[in-house]
Amino acid sequence: MEHFEAIIIGGGSAGLAASVALARSRRSVLVIDEGHPRNEPAEHAHNVLGQEGISPLKLLERGRAEAQNYGARITSGTVDSLSGSLDEGFMVHAGNQVFSAERIVLATGLKDELPRIPGLQQAWGTSAIHCAYCHGWEVRDQEILVLGCGPMSAHQAMMFQQLSSKITFINHAPSELSEEGVALLVDLGIPVVNHAIQDLEFDQSGQLKAAKLDNGERLQAQSLIVASRMNANADLYLSLGGELSEHPLGTFIKANETCATEVPGVYAVGNASNLGAMVMAAAASGTLAGAAINADLLNSKLVKP
Ligand SMILES: Cc1cc2nc3c(=O)[nH]c(=O)nc-3n(C[C@H](O)[C@H](O)[C@H](O)COP(=O)(O)OP(=O)(O)OC[C@H]3O[C@@H](n4cnc5c(N)ncnc54)[C@H](O)[C@@H]3O)c2cc1C
Repeated sequence: MEHFEAIIIGGGSAGLAASVALARSRRSVLVIDEGHPRNEPAEHAHNVLGQEGISPLKLLERGRAEAQNYGARITSGTVDSLSGSLDEGFMVHAGNQVFSAERIVLATGLKDELPRIPGLQQAWGTSAIHCAYCHGWEVRDQEILVLGCGPMSAHQAMMFQQLSSKITFINHAPSELSEEGVALLVDLGIPVVNHAIQDLEFDQSGQLKAAKLDNGERLQAQSLIVASRMNANADLYLSLGGELSEHPLGTFIKANETCATEVPGVYAVGNASNLGAMVMAAAASGTLAGAAINADLLNSKLVKP
């Protein structure tokens, strides 16, 4: 069985940044990645300093090459189980391979759960979007529908109104719209349609054309703003005895300022521990965790007085 000082589960921005920091400190490090970063459906990544508008997959290809250049090992696969402890060491199973490690980094990202509307999943990341910082500039001045489906929806309407004056709020799930949300929409002068979306229409290139409502009405739009429910991919953490923390928008793995979780020897980075982390914040947490693990490993070898 091959042994590594650190095994990083997940090779998105967060996991790869952790691997670079560790490999540059000459730590033996393995990244195991199943290769489906959260922003995979998007053609471009924005607010990525120095790489503005790069394809998300190209960015990670560059990150992998940088990590490998310093000696990090990267392998494709899914980690199916994780066991052990700081004292005994950790065992990582990926398919028919088993590895051991002294420290674990969970860089597994999160899952966006979307409301069930036909066509929404296929439009996710292109015509159906969630984040003004990721896609807002690209949809400026478009006809935009904001799907009222969660506690952030009225806030999203406010964010996107900064980018287009043609905003309509669809009160799709009325129980999710608070009194404060109603007051905000009134205050902003955003029209509210009190019907649910039943279906979405696309043109031949896959671009959204319109939303069909449950009263038969058809609203023309090029973009639909959707607040997903975000749940950290945390099964491996739960299997080690860790517990998930609740957030109004989902669940996450609680980690401290060095990205250490409540399970000794296990670190969590990127969207797994911070639902709001964009690419650069995810990468920053990975770098931080890599440095913290290096320090932790150095300290663990010191002779105790
Ligand atoms: C549609 C969309 C567009 C976005 N656009 C932008 C943008 O323009 N700019 C921006 O800054 N942010 C954007 N984001 C946010 C961005 O996707 C996240 O900030 C970023 O992906 C978080 O990086 P991460 O490394 O934490 O997770 P991820 O990038 O999701 O990487 C997690 C990796 O872990 C792997 N994995 C999970 N479980 C396992 C397992 N058990 N075994 C092995 N591997 C596993 C996954 O397959 C994946 O490769 C966007 C998000 C979405 C949904």
